Amino acid sequence: MSDVSTRVDIALLGIRGGSTPVHRRSGAGPSDDGHVLIGGFGAALPIRSDSPYSLAGNKLLLDGADIGMEIEPIGRPKFYDLQTADGVSYEKIAKLHGSNVLATTVVQTCIRYGEDERCRFCSIEASLAAGSTIAVKRPDQLAEVAEAAVRLDGVTQLVMTTGTSAAKDRGARHLARCVRAVKAVVPQLPIQVQCEPPGDLATISELREAGADAIGIHVESLDDDVRRQWMPGKATVPMSEYRAAWAEAVRVFGRNQVSTYLLVGLGEDPDELASGAAELIDMGVYPFVVPFRPLGGTLAVDVDHASAPNRDVLEDVTRRVAKELQHAGMLGSDQRAGCAACGACSVLSSAGG
Ligand code: SF4
Repeated sequence: MSDVSTRVDIALLGIRGGSTPVHRRSGAGPSDDGHVLIGGFGAALPIRSDSPYSLAGNKLLLDGADIGMEIEPIGRPKFYDLQTADGVSYEKIAKLHGSNVLATTVVQTCIRYGEDERCRFCSIEASLAAGSTIAVKRPDQLAEVAEAAVRLDGVTQLVMTTGTSAAKDRGARHLARCVRAVKAVVPQLPIQVQCEPPGDLATISELREAGADAIGIHVESLDDDVRRQWMPGKATVPMSEYRAAWAEAVRVFGRNQVSTYLLVGLGEDPDELASGAAELIDMGVYPFVVPFRPLGGTLAVDVDHASAPNRDVLEDVTRRVAKELQHAGMLGSDQRAGCAACGACSVLSSAGG
């Protein structure tokens, strides 16, 4: 089995065991995972008691047999043990992803979280309800945590996402304030911001001027039927708005400093997904292809009983998109910051993208 095939398998089936000190139980994006290094690269893998994969020391076992792949669990970072002067644990303000990415959700609530509107794979407010984070991260709190994470744990980039606010900018302006505050104390730390298309395209320049180095504007699916079914709230933002925001973001941030998530396994046509990804690449937008991850606490699992995507489809789509990315000379590792630069939630980097 090739490394890409194994990487696809463990992205879907996960690994057994509780030996990954850095993990997320819920939140924005693909969560409920353990963070490890595979061949020096970060990987965020589901932790599942029914997986045929397990760890013995640093060796990956399949049904108990060594398959010759080294996996190194990432240790708990030192900054998790600190707290702000007003008593908030740094761990509730930002988390370590992979070995070197600091990640935060600056506003942990979303106007689209009502059951009729919520993205069915999202659990952004579950970590808030569980008390493992705070609702709004202040710019000065983030600056304090970022400085400590760089100094104590060698963090090399920061990813800032946000729940969508009711304001016209959909939360982008608070991101800009947070970026400005972090850059004032750690100017060398590259930052990716993630948001919906802000109502006014000029906000994209505001984010860049605040110091953001890269931007993710995440559509999740290019198929309007899939969007309406899985993301009824976000689907009210038309694709034309996404396209305008991506084009403006490429103008402002540059080619391959703009990305979007594309989830595999929502019932989309794989050929359409691959051709849509190729169009994004032509625009200079990196399509971050990620398997849909069924998580407890989401509507997808609790109501729809959805399951993970077919492994062959995931491998096929990932390989095709990676080839397009290579052809265009757009590698995730060339992004200054962000999920594509990190790569842990996708198999694309293992496939050469
Ligand atoms: S790809 Fe993005 S969400 Fe996944 S671990 Fe890396 S920074 Fe976090």
